[in-house]
Amino acid sequence: MALTIMRRIKFCAGHRLYGHGGKCEHFHGHNYVADFFVQGEEQDEVGRIIDFSVLKKAVKGWIDEHWDHSFLVHQDDDNAQKALRMVEPCRLFVMPYNPTAENMAKYLLEEMCPEVLAGTGATASQVRIWETDESYAEASLDCVSGESSTYSAMAVSE
Ligand SMILES: [Zn+2]
Repeated sequence: MALTIMRRIKFCAGHRLYGHGGKCEHFHGHNYVADFFVQGEEQDEVGRIIDFSVLKKAVKGWIDEHWDHSFLVHQDDDNAQKALRMVEPCRLFVMPYNPTAENMAKYLLEEMCPEVLAGTGATASQVRIWETDESYAEASLDCVSGESSTYSAMAVSE
């Protein structure tokens, strides 16, 4: 049996999709919603996997510091980085791949969650990024505790 809790975090960010070839390669932004699904191997004496306030502080703290009101850009997108660095104060976050909703969910699940949840006994099993009310992308681990966890991403749109 797996017990899962979810905490939703809302933030605003700008991005562009490098090499998209369509309107998404222009600078624009979204009011994003990130859903963090977290599992734990055991409940504490109160019955919790992790306290909701602890989970919120961990994930919202990171989002506020790195992504909220920031621009997300591909590491190969020199042109966008150069343009953003001309603006004072400059706030950008360089990603190892294009800042699609799929890759944002992947980054949060693979890079951010292990870092901010370390020592809590809880593990993120799934992250969902809503780019609009109608569209989300999701990254999930097939096996939370296994060494051979694999990543999968899906995108849903109306
Ligand atoms: Zn977009």
